[in-house]
Amino acid sequence: MPIDPALTHAETALLGEHRPLTRAEAQAVGAVPLDQLPDLIALAHRVRLEYCGDTVELESLINAKSGACPEDCAFCSQSAQFSTQAEVYPFLDIDEVVATARATRDAGATQFCIVVAVRGPEERLLAKVIKAVAAVHQETGLEVACSLGLLTAPQAERLADAGVHRYNHNLETCREMFSTICTTHTYDDRVATAQLALDAGMELCCGGILGLGETLEQRIDFAFELAELGPTEVPINLLDPRPGTPLENQTMLSPRAALQAIALFRLILPSAWLRLAGGRERVLGELQGMGLLAGANALIVGNYLTTTGRSPDDDIALLEALGMPKAEGPGEGRFIVDGNGAQSRPAKAPNKNSVPVEILSPRSG
Ligand code: SF4
Repeated sequence: MPIDPALTHAETALLGEHRPLTRAEAQAVGAVPLDQLPDLIALAHRVRLEYCGDTVELESLINAKSGACPEDCAFCSQSAQFSTQAEVYPFLDIDEVVATARATRDAGATQFCIVVAVRGPEERLLAKVIKAVAAVHQETGLEVACSLGLLTAPQAERLADAGVHRYNHNLETCREMFSTICTTHTYDDRVATAQLALDAGMELCCGGILGLGETLEQRIDFAFELAELGPTEVPINLLDPRPGTPLENQTMLSPRAALQAIALFRLILPSAWLRLAGGRERVLGELQGMGLLAGANALIVGNYLTTTGRSPDDDIALLEALGMPKAEGPGEGRFIVDGNGAQSRPAKAPNKNSVPVEILSPRSG
């Protein structure tokens, strides 16, 4: 079967002309039938290699304060508004955060993300997080990201000054869908926090969750809305419906639809770390490895916020089988693509308050 013209056209744009796809071009790619998915995956993989290389960034996260969140995101078992089995506990002891970070480093990850389930951090919580960031830097040398909900500008600046190198705040879904998923804050609230993180000098980690009932066209819109923010990293969660949430009966994406979405995200966000996160085991099943051939180049390893992941050793073995080296050290493998095409260079100078890179070697702690 000949390659679909929409794919050849996209290939010329991204690999020949080194320009981003237009929405119409992306939609044409989305319309390519799923029985031609291998061709789309092959293209996404070539784009990933050209723009990002073959390394895979591993990150682990800690749910440092779980449950009892006042917000009502319909997919989330940590909302206090739903009756779920999610654990509820206050911010963990710093020793526990550091111990998890150490385990992360020992499992081969270079990134560690401190996540708390809140609308936004109040002062006491923020102070604790900042202490925990310093302790993790000191004890492990990992790069530390945070995900603390909606921020004010001074809060974003304090986190950047504390050496938080990347801030996670997902848009979760496209603008058109958002008000059906969450009513306690708005899409624009989320965009504003993403922008504040960037303004403060942190890298932006901004993605969402696929399979909330959005159409393929809305999924493409979502990728373009993310691209407008210029995130360094885009986490892709795949809905694994949680009992007790309003989406508990939502049908999961098929593995093929999930792979198609991952590939489309790669074509629309060619230079981002595209990180497969929660739900990948359940949704992709036997096709885990295909996710990394369809354009993803980063993984959450270990457990997710409220669900259990597989062993990091299994993911390391998968990378070996695929011949994809993991990013070895903080900042390694960073890349930015300018308007003229792929050009590797550091994303930004180290934060002035960060521990020097020699001390940050993951092998040194
Ligand atoms: S997704 Fe975040 S903000 Fe929304 S309910 Fe869950 S913890 Fe709260």
